[in-house]
Amino acid sequence: MPQQKNHSFDVIVVGSGASGGWACKRLAEAGLKVALLEAGRPQSDENFTEHKPEFELKYRNKAHELIRKTRPIQVKFGVCNEYTYDWFVNDLDEPYTTPADKPFNWMGRLRMTGGRTNVWGRVSLRYSDGDFKSASLDGYGENWPLGYKDIEPYYDLVEKYVGITGSAEGLEHLPDGQFQPTVPLTCQETLFRNRVKEKLGRTVMPTRSANLTKPINGRGPCHYCGPCERGCMTHSYFNSAFTTVADALASGNCTLISNAMAYKVLMDPDRNRARGILYIDRITKQPREVSARAVILCAQSQESVRILLNSATPQYANGLANSSGVLGHYLTAHVRSGGGSGEFPAFGSKPSLGAPIKPLGIYIARFRNLPNTPPYKKFLRGFGYEGESSTEFNWGAPGFGAAYKKSLLEPRSAIDITGFGEVLPRWDNFVELDSTVKDVYGIPVLKIHMSDGENERAMIQDMGDSAGEMLEAAGAKNIRTYAHPSAPRWALHEAGIARMGADPKKSVLNQYQQSHDVKNLFVMDASGFTSNPCQNPTLTIMALCVRSCDYLMSELKRNAI
Ligand SMILES: Cc1cc2nc3c(=O)[nH]c(=O)nc-3n(C[C@H](O)[C@H](O)[C@H](O)COP(=O)(O)OP(=O)(O)OC[C@H]3O[C@@H](n4cnc5c(N)ncnc54)[C@H](O)[C@@H]3O)c2cc1C
Ligand code: SF4
Repeated sequence: MPQQKNHSFDVIVVGSGASGGWACKRLAEAGLKVALLEAGRPQSDENFTEHKPEFELKYRNKAHELIRKTRPIQVKFGVCNEYTYDWFVNDLDEPYTTPADKPFNWMGRLRMTGGRTNVWGRVSLRYSDGDFKSASLDGYGENWPLGYKDIEPYYDLVEKYVGITGSAEGLEHLPDGQFQPTVPLTCQETLFRNRVKEKLGRTVMPTRSANLTKPINGRGPCHYCGPCERGCMTHSYFNSAFTTVADALASGNCTLISNAMAYKVLMDPDRNRARGILYIDRITKQPREVSARAVILCAQSQESVRILLNSATPQYANGLANSSGVLGHYLTAHVRSGGGSGEFPAFGSKPSLGAPIKPLGIYIARFRNLPNTPPYKKFLRGFGYEGESSTEFNWGAPGFGAAYKKSLLEPRSAIDITGFGEVLPRWDNFVELDSTVKDVYGIPVLKIHMSDGENERAMIQDMGDSAGEMLEAAGAKNIRTYAHPSAPRWALHEAGIARMGADPKKSVLNQYQQSHDVKNLFVMDASGFTSNPCQNPTLTIMALCVRSCDYLMSELKRNAI
């Protein structure tokens, strides 16, 4: 069957999530003609169900077994539920493989405009200079080819547009940003923050989160209904579907091509240039081509690298833009299997089913291996904690009858915290193509090899121990801590498999996420991250993407690519 062709564009952007949304906004608003290829369906306010009670659902949101039949991996994370499951990839249609002894849960694979930003947790933190130069500080791995000053103006730009609520804390290792007014801490959280600071010197703050407390660009402030992962009709959290992508489309310069599963980058071998993308229409399963002067992959780390591996040519036999041989290697993703909880009975206010729900909690800034402090002996790098307080009905109360009803109304007022830790980039954590398996569109799938090392194991143990220490310092009762090995590895914050660097022999991309090998090919998601600091990655993904788009436009202007 001959391939159908779309007309030519200035730039093709693959993927409409956090990075792709910004790429198409920045470029289309500057006047470039952009084709936005998105594997998923268009998103719409009509799909949002944040105000729909469970009793209105067919299976009362208890249909896990049913969802498991098509999404056995995605359903492992609570945001894939009866409200949202059809936003997620069908794991059977689009599988991946792992070695038997290295299970890996590749969750959060969305197939909607907006990608993961439809359901993300919205925690938005800057990296610091110490993160970009961590190899110089502790001797492990490579420094990033850029520093904090290079990205700072782009953090400012992105934060002002996205709308990040947060508090200025003056920490060198977790720089302050352009914050909207913060959402106040609850009583438990305030007590926890004060005592942890007083007794241990650690900083607990309101989560820096992409939820509006003031209106911007026609988006209303949050009204505290709670389940942001089901959408938001007032557009009060950041989802690229109704922000960056909507702006790009409104410019008149961006064409969204939905249900377009990018298969490979098409090359002009004589000129060593990318000339377009071959994609499979997910509805008709027919191949199509679209061409442009430059190609930007923003499909999420593993998906973008899968496209590059599937784009091998005689010249790039091990994957496109892989003369270094590092493409697919140095996979990182946060470990988060250590933490704890404790109760604060003094705050025994009555639980309620109808109260406002704060969509963000607390963040505890990293306190191990900071610049200008002695190195921590047990592991390199560090971790922060995400947490929240809750006052709930005592659902776990034993017994039945009147006594049960009474205990049910005795509230459990608690704080839970979970560590998010940096994983060291290691060569033997990698992805490759599985030559024996294809997805339902005929595209070879990834085989993912990932496991924890000694550093991660020691860090997870400390996440549990330090959680207990802080809850104790705060005077919590019934403290429970945990520190599990993180197998099967699971991931929402994957990065590093087409890493940036100054040396083309050791990296795939330069500091502008431009391929060293193919000058009109860029990868603007987290694939390029040289390391994966413990802060959540998306704010940095977006800021870097805008910086790289500005570079791309200047290069196009001077006909350098
Ligand atoms: C439940 C959850 C909670 C999270 N919480 C946080 C948080 O609190 N803070 C934080 O910083 N990060 C968080 N993240 C991670 C965050 O969502 C991602 O870092 C971010 O969305 C990645 O942006 P991206 O552009 O790389 O990919 P995505 O946003 O995933 O977008 C990729 C898009 O590309 C499309 N695509 C994939 N393959 C192809 C293909 N072959 N052809 C065409 N299109 C394709 C997908 O359909 C998707 O729409 C969370 C993620 C999840 C799932
Ligand atoms: S809690 Fe706020 S941001 Fe989240 S869905 Fe409700 S109104 Fe929107």
